[in-house]
Amino acid sequence: MRKISLAVLLAASVGGAAAQGQVNVICSVQAEWCNMISTVYARTTGTRVNVTMKGSGEALAQLIAEKENPKTDVWFGGTGDPHLQAAEQGLTVEYKSPSLPQLHEWAQQQAKQSGYKTVGIYSGPLGFGYNPELLAKKKLAVPKTWADLAKVEYKGEVQVANPASSGTSYTMIATLVQLMGEDKAFEYLKGLHRNVGAYPRSGTAPIKAVARGETALSISFVHDGPGEKMQGFPVETITPSDGTGAEIGSMSIIKGSRNVDAATKFYEWALTPAAQEMAAAAKQFQLPSNKAAKVDPRVPDFKKIKLINYDYAKYGASAERRRLIARWEKEVNSLPR
Ligand code: PLP
Repeated sequence: MRKISLAVLLAASVGGAAAQGQVNVICSVQAEWCNMISTVYARTTGTRVNVTMKGSGEALAQLIAEKENPKTDVWFGGTGDPHLQAAEQGLTVEYKSPSLPQLHEWAQQQAKQSGYKTVGIYSGPLGFGYNPELLAKKKLAVPKTWADLAKVEYKGEVQVANPASSGTSYTMIATLVQLMGEDKAFEYLKGLHRNVGAYPRSGTAPIKAVARGETALSISFVHDGPGEKMQGFPVETITPSDGTGAEIGSMSIIKGSRNVDAATKFYEWALTPAAQEMAAAAKQFQLPSNKAAKVDPRVPDFKKIKLINYDYAKYGASAERRRLIARWEKEVNSLPR
């Protein structure tokens, strides 16, 4: 509520600008970035931005629930797989931005394979977060591979989000399936389960827990590490040497939006270099999709990471995402720890 009133206040303060309507945004990145874009956009355009924050899986669930009577205009951020699923389910509209040629190939590819019902706005690799002080105190080594993370000495030390609510965690499952083959990946996840102390809802909760010394290790997007470190917390990240996946954080306009013009303007603004540079200003260090956006030195260097050739079309398909999450619930989450 406080945030909405601030946006209203700022909108009203725009030097005589007539009210420019409103746009309802589900925001699936971290709060600081959501707040920054809504505040700045309201102040500069006079358009009120009503923000609801939801993890990627939860955002998709809300859009499915409100399909007949949509309350959302734009879904900003969150992992690309559920955005592709939304496109496939007809929850989002086709829109070919004139800015597409300014975007990296991977962001354009995300748009193309969805029939232009979503677009890439950033990318970031999956890895591990660790608290070096806590590991040293417990005389534990930094895990370097996926296999390391499942070793018995890390029992209870790992946090990773729940894949039903979190896009980060679904990216982990899809990555492991692509790295190991599905059955081996599920055997691995069962072993890892013994080491998992908690499966929180939000994909960014585990690295915050690591930073605050509540747990030693997390499975996280490594671009979330520097923001915690900047606050003074002892946290580092590493990407597994046996290979990892990367997300294509995405954005979509919702079918049935009651504010299509305002939604389209906001969407276009979100693709500009200036808007994309706000991620780093809000201490979130993904790689921006606009080629002209400045890349902060803290953004992970993709060239130094062993990345799999992530099949976004396959793992963004509705049936596949539903099936893999259901298999995880049945075969992994139901096991005792
Ligand atoms: N926050 C940041 C900074 C992200 O990059 C992402 C992924 O796109 C998320 C949040 C998504 O979080 P969740 O795993 O809860 O869907």
